[in-house]
Amino acid sequence: MPERAPTPERGIVRVAIDRPLRTAFDYQPPVGLAAAAVPAGVRVRVPVGGSRTVGVVIGHAERSDLPAGRLKPIEAILDERPLFDPPALELLRWAAGYYHHPIGEVVAAALPRALRAGAPLEVCAEFLLCLAAGVAARAAGEPRRAPRQRALLERIADQAGGVSAEALSLESPDWRAAGRALIERGWARLETRPVARGAAASEATAPATHTTGAPPPPAPPTLTPEQTVAVAAINAATGFAAFVLQGATGSGKTEVYLRAVEQQLALGRRALLLVPEIGLTPQLLARFRERFAQPIAVLHSALGDTERLAAWREAHAGRAAILIGTRSAVFAPLPALGLIIVDEEHDSSFKQQEGGCRYSARDLAVLRARHAQVAVVLGSATPSFETLRNLEAGRYQRLTLPRRANQAAAPQLALIDLRAHPPRDGLAAPVLRAIERHLGTGGQALVYINRRGYAPTLLCTSCGWIAPCHACDARLTVHHGAARLRCHYCGADEPLPQRCPRCGYAVKPVGQGTERIEATLAGLFPAERLVRLDRDTARRPGELEQVMQAVLSGAARILVGTQMVTKGHHFPDVTLVAVLNADQGLFSTDFRAAERLAQTIIQVAGRAGRDARAGEVLIQTEYPDHPLLQSLLAGGYESFAASGLAERAAAHWPPFGRLALLRASATRPAAAFEFLEAARQAAGRPRDVRLLGPVAATMARRAGRHHAQLLVECPGRAPLQHFLAGWVVALDALPAARRVRWALDVDPLDTQ
Ligand SMILES: [Zn+2]
Ligand SMILES: [Zn+2]
Repeated sequence: MPERAPTPERGIVRVAIDRPLRTAFDYQPPVGLAAAAVPAGVRVRVPVGGSRTVGVVIGHAERSDLPAGRLKPIEAILDERPLFDPPALELLRWAAGYYHHPIGEVVAAALPRALRAGAPLEVCAEFLLCLAAGVAARAAGEPRRAPRQRALLERIADQAGGVSAEALSLESPDWRAAGRALIERGWARLETRPVARGAAASEATAPATHTTGAPPPPAPPTLTPEQTVAVAAINAATGFAAFVLQGATGSGKTEVYLRAVEQQLALGRRALLLVPEIGLTPQLLARFRERFAQPIAVLHSALGDTERLAAWREAHAGRAAILIGTRSAVFAPLPALGLIIVDEEHDSSFKQQEGGCRYSARDLAVLRARHAQVAVVLGSATPSFETLRNLEAGRYQRLTLPRRANQAAAPQLALIDLRAHPPRDGLAAPVLRAIERHLGTGGQALVYINRRGYAPTLLCTSCGWIAPCHACDARLTVHHGAARLRCHYCGADEPLPQRCPRCGYAVKPVGQGTERIEATLAGLFPAERLVRLDRDTARRPGELEQVMQAVLSGAARILVGTQMVTKGHHFPDVTLVAVLNADQGLFSTDFRAAERLAQTIIQVAGRAGRDARAGEVLIQTEYPDHPLLQSLLAGGYESFAASGLAERAAAHWPPFGRLALLRASATRPAAAFEFLEAARQAAGRPRDVRLLGPVAATMARRAGRHHAQLLVECPGRAPLQHFLAGWVVALDALPAARRVRWALDVDPLDTQ
């Protein structure tokens, strides 16, 4: 394409391109057009560095900082309608600014892969159109000696929009030969264009479930007085309002969500429901599909590219009335958005923790609601300290759901002192007796251990060799059934040796994981069927459903699982919960470890006694006097959180102070430290900001790379943002930055 001198009156178009650069790229509008003809939010094809790529227009400018000769024109506009409306673009820009991440990468991550590559926004189909010459030929009785062509011409002649290739194939599978002949004669033309709305069926979209002949959906349950208050408060909100729906598991939060969504749909608006990574259970989806006849689009990380694209299109086109999705769905377009719900808002999967822009979908959901001037509901039995602080400050409004009247009392928590009851194979005698007792009275038992695999260590009892990961500062986990040793940090996977590779003596697994606890319990309760729920047994959605079905049907009465069991599953007959290794969270160096442990204990305890029967929760610990466990036992999550927040306030930790973490990794151990030292120097002596480190990460070597970090502490958000904005520019320019991988994590979830 010939370079032309830019004509300033045509304006400049700013394009976000998937490149690690902090600014947008400037282009001239396409030849012959003004910048205003390229609206923000559409995709364009642009030349960049000798090749061409697809970008998204994020704004316009009157002039560029680039010299006029270097400004190239946009080659093509790919969309008739913007992919992102102005509020959606504003959210993307805000995320890029707040998390200090390149805007092009933020925009790209918000798009399904196919759209990033330039696929059409709408599902397209081929149509065979009759041209004027074809109409004339038909009137003249042409073609006389080609009956197939003649028939095809007849078929398309009176169809203004042509006939779809799909329809023609159905009528006559070999129509294409005749079609080609008509095209060669200049009588017809093939055209590819978007098909009519609603014609694109997709697996990711639920069809209207209320088909004729199916039983009518059950009548919605009567609301409790507290649910009524909550629904009324949410529905009465005009403009932006943030609610915290706090209720124990089984208190009926989902019913409140359903009613609030119902109201929005009745008003012709749409609803966005964000759920944790593995909280998107078939149960939750089933409840929404049962209640609403309108289409529901679902976006989560297990979808294939095609399904993701289909769901995104349904949401963008407004065909889906409800969008249910995990983290990245916070960026998905949804016209006429009326309500946002974040279920289990405390869940750590709402924060992107590796790769790309490290955003919090929960925080962005609140911001999106503010931009859209709609209500946002944050639901949890154990709200995060951030959310509790916002409640305290009057920014959010609390709606509380007590346990329902027809439910048993809250489960009773008790500690099992492991010093008095030494565990055998990870299980203390009182826990085993309790399992026996609950099974004997028809209950089910849930055994929680936060570690998958058979054993965390493989040890040689003769020479003391321990199976190490060669790429990490970690031990390999024994996976007995698969006969493998696996690293849970880098994915290393090797055969399980029978003998010590160093001295040839026998090796033995030490410690417990879910697989070993399952095997031990199977030996002790041979008549019972056990199931296990962790990332090894539930790799695909179908497998998760099978495990859940076995528990729900009562076929299995002992469930062993990792924190996967704490997320959203409803097991009405579970009456006993045993927490086997609470102590891991008690002495962590991470400031959020206690909050997470308390949330996990309360969430897993919430699985017990959800229907009529009372639940019992036993927590194995060597530290029964630990203040965290004592405050949880005495006053529940509320009292624990109150003392936890007081501690954070005294230490100026979040949510009172603000943190950012600069992480770096390199194959050469010193390189990460050199970069972080240089980063520290580059910071100078900023006001109100404290730099701590650099220090090695808690697990310094992972997947062959050495990790270190520098912590940034600041009393407030504004000064921190001001500092970071200048700092990242300096970091980009550091020579040491080119020898490491580095990332800035604003509001990090952990500081290890
Ligand atoms: Zn040995
Ligand atoms: Zn490893």
